[in-house]
Amino acid sequence: MSTTDRRHHVVFLGAGYLSIWSYRALKRKVGKQVDFTVVAPATVHTFHGWTGEVLSGELPPDAQLSPIAEAMPAARHVRGFARSVDRAARTVEVERVDGAKQTVHYDHLIVGTGQYEDLGRVEGMEEHAFRLRDAGRTGKLAAHLDHCVESARSAKDEKLRRKSLSVVVAGGGLAGVEASVAIAQRLARATEGTPERECADVVLVSTTGELATEMPPKLRAHVREEIQGNGVRVLAPARVVAVAADGVKLDDGAWLSASTVVAAVGNKPRPLPGLDDLPVDDRGAVRTDRLLQIAPGVWSGGDAASVPLASGEPCPVDAAWAIGQGSWVGANVARVIRGRRQRAFTWKSVGVTAGFGRDHAVLEAWGMAFRGRVAWLSRAAFFGYYLPSRPQLRRVLRALISRRRGKRA
Ligand SMILES: Cc1cc2nc3c(=O)[nH]c(=O)nc-3n(C[C@H](O)[C@H](O)[C@H](O)COP(=O)(O)OP(=O)(O)OC[C@H]3O[C@@H](n4cnc5c(N)ncnc54)[C@H](O)[C@@H]3O)c2cc1C
Repeated sequence: MSTTDRRHHVVFLGAGYLSIWSYRALKRKVGKQVDFTVVAPATVHTFHGWTGEVLSGELPPDAQLSPIAEAMPAARHVRGFARSVDRAARTVEVERVDGAKQTVHYDHLIVGTGQYEDLGRVEGMEEHAFRLRDAGRTGKLAAHLDHCVESARSAKDEKLRRKSLSVVVAGGGLAGVEASVAIAQRLARATEGTPERECADVVLVSTTGELATEMPPKLRAHVREEIQGNGVRVLAPARVVAVAADGVKLDDGAWLSASTVVAAVGNKPRPLPGLDDLPVDDRGAVRTDRLLQIAPGVWSGGDAASVPLASGEPCPVDAAWAIGQGSWVGANVARVIRGRRQRAFTWKSVGVTAGFGRDHAVLEAWGMAFRGRVAWLSRAAFFGYYLPSRPQLRRVLRALISRRRGKRA
């Protein structure tokens, strides 16, 4: 049998953007010839783009969570973590969430394991800080903030009120900036017209004075305006060196009292035994070739990988690039299955965007900068289009409409 007429088993590690968009391309091009398996611990894909909307209260927490069964309906889902890969035998060892071990064979392996939050380097951060990456984390933080508002309302004096409503966000990248603004908006809305309003304090701690460096320089001034306009205080350059249940210690020895600490720092790829001999970049991300292959039959992209552009520079790391790389990996694996030549990666991202509440966003698309309503509408349309399932888009739209009606009533 030739490669073109036998069945192929494609295994995806992770159910993020990279895996879902590879699956889509493969399903469209060679779906009838392929058996799909996805190995991932959660039953949902987490759409990080809505982190700010969930934290501000604009969207409910489950707006971020698309069932994998909807996003990859033809794939068998093995719920668990890939623990090692045997490239010679073409197998993956999986530790399932029910504790059992399982060996999964592959013809093509697509590694889309993203990054994890490596918080262990800062004393107490793992135990005491809220994080934003994994499924359900943002919802947990939103619920905690509501609890803090309740505590402030029942507090005996102003000192306790202030303590309940003090938040520190560690990390001045785009995720930290969007989160701090959204938290400030949630607290402002929840305390509007009450004595607690003056007690809310959100501090963004950044190691560099330049914030949100993922955005092009021409948009960073607008990002700063959003930070200031929402009353977020910026401490920079400063570093959180220890976290406790009631605040953080900075590198100059200062103590910031806080009932909520959010970690928007420390994302890095986790090396997978069996692939850990492959070359990595200074982030620790495995280097792909121009076809997005890392070894024979093994492909990668997204946050887990360092993908070279035609210039030799590495691709930026964000959801848009993970989506583009995912489609490319899927198309190249389909070409192998059809016995055709694979193509070098030439996809280009349209741009970058960040949101700061209704009608407040910044966007760079095709080199042009936009802000305000136009940017907000374009961002919403773009994010809606790239939600991994149509039923999820309908649920998000229904949630948006009912929240708007609730606010007007
Ligand atoms: C808070 C936050 C906000 C963000 N906001 C934006 C934004 O507004 N715009 C933007 O473009 N980008 C944003 N990003 C970045 C974007 O989310 C990432 O670039 C994108 O998720 C990368 O996609 P991926 O498929 O590589 O990984 P992910 O989407 O992270 O998916 C990784 C998958 O691998 C799974 N996994 C991990 N380890 C294993 C294992 N050993 N075995 C099996 N499965 C495993 C995970 O559970 C998950 O399913 C944000 C990121 C964060 C954390």
